[in-house]
Amino acid sequence: MKTHVKALVIGGGAIGTSIAYHLAKAGWQDVMLLERDELTSGSTWHAAGLLPYFNMSYATTWIHDYSIKFYKTLEEETGLNAGFAVVGNLRMAQTEERMDEFRLYASTAETVGVPHEWLTPAQIKDRYPLVNTDDLKGAILHPTDGYINPADVTMAMAKGARQRGVTVERKWQADAFHWTGEAWEVTCTKMVEKGGNLIPSEEQVVITAEHVVTASGNHAQRTARMLGIKIPAIPVEHQFIVTEPDPALVDWRKANPEHPVLRDADAKWYVREERGGWILGPYERNAPACFEYGVPDSFRADLFPLDLDRIEEEYMAMIHRLPSSEEVGLKDDFNGPICYTPDGNPLVGPAPGLRNMWLAEGFSFGITAAGGTGHYLAQMMVEGEAEIDMASLDPKRYGSWMTTEYAARKNE
Ligand SMILES: Cc1cc2nc3c(=O)[nH]c(=O)nc-3n(C[C@H](O)[C@H](O)[C@H](O)COP(=O)(O)OP(=O)(O)OC[C@H]3O[C@@H](n4cnc5c(N)ncnc54)[C@H](O)[C@@H]3O)c2cc1C
Repeated sequence: MKTHVKALVIGGGAIGTSIAYHLAKAGWQDVMLLERDELTSGSTWHAAGLLPYFNMSYATTWIHDYSIKFYKTLEEETGLNAGFAVVGNLRMAQTEERMDEFRLYASTAETVGVPHEWLTPAQIKDRYPLVNTDDLKGAILHPTDGYINPADVTMAMAKGARQRGVTVERKWQADAFHWTGEAWEVTCTKMVEKGGNLIPSEEQVVITAEHVVTASGNHAQRTARMLGIKIPAIPVEHQFIVTEPDPALVDWRKANPEHPVLRDADAKWYVREERGGWILGPYERNAPACFEYGVPDSFRADLFPLDLDRIEEEYMAMIHRLPSSEEVGLKDDFNGPICYTPDGNPLVGPAPGLRNMWLAEGFSFGITAAGGTGHYLAQMMVEGEAEIDMASLDPKRYGSWMTTEYAARKNE
């Protein structure tokens, strides 16, 4: 194992893997990606894989734009097909106020050059007759985004990174950081399996790195403690359910292309097709925060139990919007941790008060954001600044008033 590198990236989820890839692409020779378990074993493996352009933040819109274009090129570069379904995204509004929000967003989309169209309720009904449009005011359609397989896109980026010289070390956990005045000494511990848990062994190495990036996902609070800083990224539970095939959908698809990802912004859910059925992802109120004080050894690539009562409102709202789904049973469910920050934007940039330490934490749309985050963070690290304004993502926007309890309550 190498013990001296230019950059050490901690965390082999979508975000860390993309950062390692882009640092190598930007010309850094000696980059190492460190993962305590297996690549994608954090939140990345159970994401629904949606890649929505829509985001109210200017920096994030640029980031999403980069990702969507980059993912379309990955197969040619790596030979791995990540299953990018370019079905588009239809974001529907029930009120004029919601349409105003879409128009405000469209001004950012136009600046960035994001393709989008406006649809009236009649046009939505004409194109997608299974959608009940009675109470809609309209929708914004992004025809060039869609969804991807989160694990496959991460593995494709990992392959691309290795092809560009990145070393990937699995089952090693970063456990302590020491700044020598010139570089970081990172104490890393070999992780071993015991009774289904992943626990630290006695084997340790110290890796000297000129730069360190943390992309530790649900482990952000542990990372913060080790660095002696605050990282207001706290996971909450997030569920999605998969239905059995819907006969009306199966029938409609015989002569028609796949629906775009559907979003009812007012009812707070997303829906996409999955093997003749539907995936419903509700943005549930009062989703409990988890891991505020650390992730237990027993929680690895695991899920929480389904809590259907918590999503009843959004479930009924899906049936209202897609009446044919009412008779369809449930096939599968996912309830996993998803990181949020109090303002919903991730923390990307220099760690407050620490030299050559970079944060990429707190991603709630980490599959969508991974490509662009890697690209723009690599620009900051290699060239000194990104070509876009990253201020809204700056980790130091939260002062010392920020407590773990505040972040947890704000995210629920
Ligand atoms: C049910 C659900 C559905 C979702 N759907 C979508 C979606 O449709 N679209 C979308 O964009 N996003 C979605 N998300 C969010 C998405 O999953 C996350 O934003 C994304 O996976 C975050 O990636 P990450 O790399 O930051 O974190 P992770 O994937 O959690 O990776 C962090 C990694 O760091 C490792 N690590 C931590 N600490 C250390 C250490 N000290 N040393 C070494 N390794 C360490 C961990 O083992 C882990 O593998 C969804 C989330 C959930 C829960």
